[in-house]
Amino acid sequence: MSDPVIEASDVTRTFMISAGFMRGKQPLHAVNGISLNVERGEVLGIVGESGCGKTTLAKMMLGLLEPTSGTLRLDGKLVGAAHRIEVARILQPIFQDPYSSLNPRKSIGDIIMLPLKVQNDPDPATWRKRAEDIMDLVGLPTRVYNNYPNQLSGGQRQRVAIARALINRPKIVICDEPTSALDVSVQSQILNLLQDLRGEFGLTYVLISHNLAVVEHMATRVAVMYLGRIVEQADTDTLFKAPKHPYTQALLGSVLTPEPGLGVPDTHLGAAYPNPIDPPSGCTFHPRCAQVMDHCSKQAPPAVANGGMVECHLYAHGGGRKSPKRKSK
Ligand code: SF4
Repeated sequence: MSDPVIEASDVTRTFMISAGFMRGKQPLHAVNGISLNVERGEVLGIVGESGCGKTTLAKMMLGLLEPTSGTLRLDGKLVGAAHRIEVARILQPIFQDPYSSLNPRKSIGDIIMLPLKVQNDPDPATWRKRAEDIMDLVGLPTRVYNNYPNQLSGGQRQRVAIARALINRPKIVICDEPTSALDVSVQSQILNLLQDLRGEFGLTYVLISHNLAVVEHMATRVAVMYLGRIVEQADTDTLFKAPKHPYTQALLGSVLTPEPGLGVPDTHLGAAYPNPIDPPSGCTFHPRCAQVMDHCSKQAPPAVANGGMVECHLYAHGGGRKSPKRKSK
């Protein structure tokens, strides 16, 4: 039975952006009519190139931005109507760079206990014990309790960020590129830790990552974003074995950059990523699509349910093409 902890219904977030000399301000639809449910206990991976809207979507889930239109509910509560403190009780973030997300002037113990203070936890006498317990769970020795972030390694700092996120037992954690700033040698340790904690606390993760290998390893379901829309959704096995949307096929056929940990794919799509202030007509992917048809530039494609969802004319009326085989890594 469906039990969504995040329910997004036709969510749009528009920014007014200067479009250049004499053109004044123009609307940029960073998120453009997204409907999406995240089920309790699942790991939803969100992938797409920079600027596709995944960070804006995450900021709305965190209550840092309000939708321009549409509704977004966290565990049944309407974001926007709920106070930020209330949102923080349900959902916590883990960011990419553990160094910049930790206050360098605070001790590790103070950083981990901060959410208890912010939430006015009624039992301060237990805070230190709870901080030490969560440190133990994330694999941090309690002897670093009085240390400062600059005295820890990158992997330890990310463990501090994870401990801080979990001390108040949220239901949902948004992991925004959780390992991309870390050495390759510690990335898998942090990913395995996140997997273990998910089981331990019954967490739901929203995993935002450029790194397709990380998404394939962690996610139970994947949403592919392009220019503010979700163009394909499917369970992870299906999406990686048989991608349907030409953009997903290009992403999965892409070559990872050699820079360790970054994993930004070179999609070899030929045409550059379009200007989101002036998106292409019809299917916004059409100038880059290897399978473009005449009507693609004229009509926006329908969302076709196929176990998952794909937004492409190729699959309207029960059509569809075979997915190309993935290039070996
Ligand atoms: Fe390509 Fe047309 Fe599908 Fe868009 S709708 S992805 S242009 S085939």
